[in-house]
Amino acid sequence: MSLIVQKFGGSSVRDAVRIKNVARIIAETYLQGHDVMVVLSAQGDTTDDLIAKAEEINVHASKREMDMLLATGEQISVALCAMALEAMGLPCVSLAAWQVGIHSTSVHGDARIKKIDPDRIQAELDSHRIVLVTGFQGTNRRGDVTTLGRGGSDTSAVALAAAFHAELCQIYTDVDGVYTADPRLVPDARKLQEITYDEMLELASQGAQVLHNRSVELAKKFRVNLEVLSSLEHKPGTKVKEVAKVEKTNIAGVAKDTSIARVALIGLQHNPGVAFKVFDVLSRKNINVDVILQSIGRENTKDISFTIHKKDLREAEDALNAQKDTLCFDHLETDEHIGKVSIVGAGLMSNSGVAARMFEALYEAGINIQMINTSEIRVSVLLDEEDVNRAVRAIHAKFFDEM
Ligand code: ADP
Ligand code: ASP
Ligand code: MG
Repeated sequence: MSLIVQKFGGSSVRDAVRIKNVARIIAETYLQGHDVMVVLSAQGDTTDDLIAKAEEINVHASKREMDMLLATGEQISVALCAMALEAMGLPCVSLAAWQVGIHSTSVHGDARIKKIDPDRIQAELDSHRIVLVTGFQGTNRRGDVTTLGRGGSDTSAVALAAAFHAELCQIYTDVDGVYTADPRLVPDARKLQEITYDEMLELASQGAQVLHNRSVELAKKFRVNLEVLSSLEHKPGTKVKEVAKVEKTNIAGVAKDTSIARVALIGLQHNPGVAFKVFDVLSRKNINVDVILQSIGRENTKDISFTIHKKDLREAEDALNAQKDTLCFDHLETDEHIGKVSIVGAGLMSNSGVAARMFEALYEAGINIQMINTSEIRVSVLLDEEDVNRAVRAIHAKFFDEM
């Protein structure tokens, strides 16, 4: 029998009505004769509420205890949804990550799935039960619960789909597919029928939170058939696949990310090994660095600027300042009021005019660019945070209104 993995996000399981709606979608798939594995996120704003609760008690709570707390949200969802399926007379079982054996690395708050034990889930599927698994969580080698990073339930779903060779992995959410920009910010954004893994990975990594970036990475690696669709409207969604139709615009979409901060180390020595030492300090703290710019400063010194996630800013500052004597910099500057806007498209590679159109849109909107960064299929610009939404709209209009 073919296996389908269905993942439902927080807004899709927000309350009892939504949980019953989700149970109906699951039941329909099961009654068509499929094996069904379900992955759920925490209800509505539960994860944010739990973070706020923790902050009332200790703003410096350890990442281990944060994971212990945050993992509870997903457990509520699977149990409630299993109850809804039981009420419909359908055989099902809800399981947390430690019951399944979802093994992850130990980086609390940002763990990666390493291996999934097949036995328990397979036994349940063999008994024709619908299996509901908590998203967002794993267990490390000590058996402690870990979480996979915000939005990580998508990754749980794709990892399970890959491990069990599912025919399809459906990501049900509160929009009916992947759009050319966040439809909440750009009302005339267009829905894409399909998008390549590579384009989706870039969009997700650049802030389009409709899919967790690691879920796309895994889907590409294990060739998982992935589909993004609405849990509220019954219509086709967006297929994420290896090869997709190239858009006439040459770009698949525009994304924004305002969760970043910029750090600048001013007055570093202009010697070999300086960049290595700086980024080694950060990598030892598991801090991911994104856009990097090195420039020549005064009197044979250099400056290095880079962006990191805002949540890592304090830790990065502390780690770099603690090594000030070894790294030999004059001073450190930070800026939390920045954002990044990116265009993504397979067509960028073969069309040099695309980047120029993006810069033209920003120029016409009177928006200043702080840094530029590119990959084969992406151009990103760093801007003042207050310009970000306007920039997304201007760039989107430039590419999609003039078609
Ligand atoms: P879930 O709780 O189901 O995981 P998320 O909030 O994580 O849902 O992701 C869905 C949201 O992603 C949408 O509500 C939408 O505002 C946002 N989004 C950002 N960029 C895009 C895009 N390019 N296409 C569709 N949705 C997007
Ligand atoms: N509940 C987690 C979060 O809010 C995971 C997820 O929604 O995918 O980030
Ligand atoms: Mg999500």
